[in-house]
Amino acid sequence: MRALVFRGPWDLAVEERPDPVAGPGEVVVGVVSTGICGSDLHGYTGENGRRFPGQVMGHETVGRVVAVGPDVPGSARLAEGALVTVHPVLACGSCDACRSGQDHHCPTRQIIGVAPAISAAFAELMVVPAANVIAMPEDMPAEYGALVEPLAVGYHAMTRGRCGPDDNVLVVGGGPIGQACALAARRLGAGRVTVSEPHPGRRALLADIGLTAVDPAAAPLADTLAETGVAGPSLVVDAVGSSRSLGDALAVAAEGERVVLVGMHEPQVSLAAYAVSIAERSIVGSYCYSREDFASTAAWVADGPAELARLVEGRVSLADAPSAFRALAEGKDGSSKVLVFPAGVTG
Ligand SMILES: [Zn+2]
Ligand SMILES: [Zn+2]
Repeated sequence: MRALVFRGPWDLAVEERPDPVAGPGEVVVGVVSTGICGSDLHGYTGENGRRFPGQVMGHETVGRVVAVGPDVPGSARLAEGALVTVHPVLACGSCDACRSGQDHHCPTRQIIGVAPAISAAFAELMVVPAANVIAMPEDMPAEYGALVEPLAVGYHAMTRGRCGPDDNVLVVGGGPIGQACALAARRLGAGRVTVSEPHPGRRALLADIGLTAVDPAAAPLADTLAETGVAGPSLVVDAVGSSRSLGDALAVAAEGERVVLVGMHEPQVSLAAYAVSIAERSIVGSYCYSREDFASTAAWVADGPAELARLVEGRVSLADAPSAFRALAEGKDGSSKVLVFPAGVTG
């Protein structure tokens, strides 16, 4: 098979790799499309040190079952040809975290596309445990399946923030994870959802999917929110993860309320301590998703909400993926979500 191999910072190439074989409890998936994640871009540039030379990345994916290994439970719904998305967290299944559905807290967890030795999704084929595959309906555009993973990150962040109908939600940062948080807030019934995003193209995307987008560069954010009629949000999500974005979040969140930190832009941030202590704001961390959050997001995507069509801004073949990565990492391509189609671009 052909796979997109990370050879070192700013160096990706399409290489031949052996076809993966399904072992006990596993399936081979023929990849239809895989999203380029911000974490893949930071790995590509060498910034986050979480990707390794020789590795195949890719964890936001949809494909079709092409082979089923022995001892696969529930093989009825894993017929060859079935459209599936992949839950990319591989966990032991028996520790306390796994037994409570919190696979992402399993001490021995590995994440497809992050752990270097594991078969991942920027390739024509990948092998995964059958338990990590979720069937998607045929009457949905197949590429929506690649959006389940980033949308699940947003959904989990909103559940971590206990988002509900009474909330006035502000999302700081309107990239794919910010979009996912905002859509999840709407899905959870939040009355008002606003996104702060400096990039005009991203604000246009947010407006197209029915969200209120404000420019944090135009004026102090608190003033902009007051003018927009959404002052003092009860739940703020920092989908950037820098000192500046967290500072914005703490400056505008209502006293006694919640700030969720899901963005991972900077490994170290400084914050206004009194905005937490005196104002009694809670900062809640969010990472990845529980098994249930992933499954429920897959079910939501399976219903094919209309706004999903607008989230994909670019589609490239495997051969064009190295230049797409470069353009995104250099900021020459401001597209929000770009999908790679290893077997060729299809609708
Ligand atoms: Zn991702
Ligand atoms: Zn475990």
